[in-house]
Amino acid sequence: MDGETFDVDNNVWVIGDDEECVVVDAPHDVDAILAVVGGRTVKAIVCTHAHDDHVRVAPALREAVVAPIMLHPDDKPLWELTHIDHLWDVDLADGFRFDVGGTTLEVLHTPGHAPGAVCLHVPELGVVFTGDTLFQGGPGATGRSHSDFGTIVESIRNRLLTLPPETVVHTGHGDDTTIGDESPHLEEWIARGH
Ligand SMILES: [Zn+2]
Repeated sequence: MDGETFDVDNNVWVIGDDEECVVVDAPHDVDAILAVVGGRTVKAIVCTHAHDDHVRVAPALREAVVAPIMLHPDDKPLWELTHIDHLWDVDLADGFRFDVGGTTLEVLHTPGHAPGAVCLHVPELGVVFTGDTLFQGGPGATGRSHSDFGTIVESIRNRLLTLPPETVVHTGHGDDTTIGDESPHLEEWIARGH
């Protein structure tokens, strides 16, 4: 399945204030993202991981807004399935922090769905952007190559469910949830095996 394009709904998150913002993931439509950005300065295009439906228009968006693309380097093999002619600009790492609109975003490396999958935690706002690592109702898929179910469970257990239970989870697809709504179900997910 790797390298195919799927027609799915993706969430694009724009975090910031009236002056500046960060775009989280760049799936399909540069114009739609630019409409949300408005006149603000884009400080970074952060990719939660490098599956096609999260990075497809990242280079085109970079052209349009002149901002660095940030990606965890462990997702290089996935990035290369979509973009052979472009690289990203800044390597993300666990604990990497940056400021936007007076708020600090912190990178959590949460491998499993993809080796370089990251979540963005914004403690001040009580939110975490989880990409495809955690959805409402369970972990992201681990059926593709470079994915691993045991690894995603440990990422969720150790890095996400340890956040305050009221933390709002903004996902890569579908509806929001909270850490407290998801955490009681970890053992069910493990028993289910996916
Ligand atoms: Zn994905």
